[in-house]
Amino acid sequence: MMTYTVKEIFYTLQGEGAHIGRPAVFLRFSGCNLWSGLEKDRAAATCKFCDTDFVGANPDGGKFPDAEGLALAIEEKWPKAVGDENKYVVCTGGEPLLQLDEALIGALKGRGFKIAVETNGTIPVPGGVDWICVSPKAGAEIKQLVAHELKLAFPQAGLMPDKLEKFAASEYFLQPVFDEHVHENTRLAISYCMENPRWRLSVQMHKLVGLR
Ligand code: SF4
Repeated sequence: MMTYTVKEIFYTLQGEGAHIGRPAVFLRFSGCNLWSGLEKDRAAATCKFCDTDFVGANPDGGKFPDAEGLALAIEEKWPKAVGDENKYVVCTGGEPLLQLDEALIGALKGRGFKIAVETNGTIPVPGGVDWICVSPKAGAEIKQLVAHELKLAFPQAGLMPDKLEKFAASEYFLQPVFDEHVHENTRLAISYCMENPRWRLSVQMHKLVGLR
């Protein structure tokens, strides 16, 4: 039986991509297979531009010894007053597919959640996930080649959007890398989308409006 290590669980609005603005519980798993999360390892990591802290556990995370216990903790974050109809959980990280398994998917479904996952695409997604968002990284082999949403951090040396032709998604987003060059990255992403209209711009709304 899997023990799940969770960085944090919180209720917010989805800040980016196809479901931008949608109320959701965010389940941020600890750990990633493309970077340790430690600054001393960043330069040697496969993925070098991560802007997320996924190391260890915050007070609203922790270790969960079984799927039912974690599903209950997630359900407790969904406000009772808003009813059950739109229950939605976004499984993210770190890399959520190191831990998201059939037992947890089943436990969340049993509590009426629709399940989204935000993955780097290096691990196949188990059955039962309702929305798959793949965000591929240069230098990492993509194993999940089908998704509802492809969200490419842009620009990435060695991974231009036209290199993703094998990939089948319903929606295609370029998201400017959030670093000290974010304004230039945004300008480049806007130009690319306007010249290649299959792609749309995704900005990180939560950072603009001060959402968690
Ligand atoms: S794959 Fe995602 S979570 Fe992992 S280091 Fe890169 S951006 Fe961060």
